[in-house]
Amino acid sequence: MLSAIVEDYLKAIYYLQNETDGRVRTSALAEYMDVEQSTVTSMMKKLSERNFVHYEPYQGVKLTDTGVPIALEIIRHHRLLERYLTDHLEYDWAEVHDEADRLEHHISSQFADRIAEQLEDPAVDPHGDPIPTADLDVSGAKYEDTLADHQVGDSVRIERVPDKDPALLRYLSEHGIHPGTVVDVVETTSFGMVTLDPDSGDEPVALPDEVARSVSTRSLTKGAN
Ligand SMILES: [Zn+2]
Repeated sequence: MLSAIVEDYLKAIYYLQNETDGRVRTSALAEYMDVEQSTVTSMMKKLSERNFVHYEPYQGVKLTDTGVPIALEIIRHHRLLERYLTDHLEYDWAEVHDEADRLEHHISSQFADRIAEQLEDPAVDPHGDPIPTADLDVSGAKYEDTLADHQVGDSVRIERVPDKDPALLRYLSEHGIHPGTVVDVVETTSFGMVTLDPDSGDEPVALPDEVARSVSTRSLTKGAN
């Protein structure tokens, strides 16, 4: 079994290379992992010796064909655990990310498969992130736009929210915003604030630009403009 820290690095590189569609800078990785760049550099040398990453000094890093499935397996564990904790152990969705971060390294793939079976193969975790299948397939997992891309009058479905900030998750759920919620965009401002009117009848909620850009959506109908 690999150490938790190795698995965390591979997972972080996977996320970052998906965001950038290419090589990940060691500075970006250092920031993501909250460590010094020298720590990242020496870790990259080790991971490259084990053929988990392609690493060239000053060119950044990328997972190899050996590294990708290791990252996806851990992500599968994480997202299945989050689903299980919320659906069966009555955890709040704001609490499950940290718990899953700890547990993901300690369950076998067989255990993950049992959770998936018990939950009837859920497609997404509580935050709307797609759960890799047992074959580690994540196709069809890209969301095209975010709340920041819509106009007043658009009707949109929330698909995914960021999972790491418990305070934000509590705020969103207090205002009835979850993956699957349908909202109308009722106001946008030049500084990026977006106000939403949930179809559920909950009160309108205003979200700052940074949050709006991190919430993935799907367009239902366009407004008049
Ligand atoms: Zn999570």
